[in-house]
Amino acid sequence: MCRSMPGLYRIGDIVQMKKRHPCGSDRWEILRVGMDFRLKCLGCGRLVLLPRPKFEKGLKKVVSTPTNADN
Ligand SMILES: [Zn+2]
Repeated sequence: MCRSMPGLYRIGDIVQMKKRHPCGSDRWEILRVGMDFRLKCLGCGRLVLLPRPKFEKGLKKVVSTPTNADN
């Protein structure tokens, strides 16, 4: 998945972070976007809230994005 549009993230995106969660997973689902990003760990289901700059700094790549996003 190419990141030709940095800064554009959608609810439902699956992202890979540089830092691995203690549970062993580095994949997260985006639940909320805005000034803060709410993410759910796909390994253990834990929810975290990250300020946008921190999210973008820690992001490795977008793994998948919803295909039916035509809002
Ligand atoms: Zn986890």
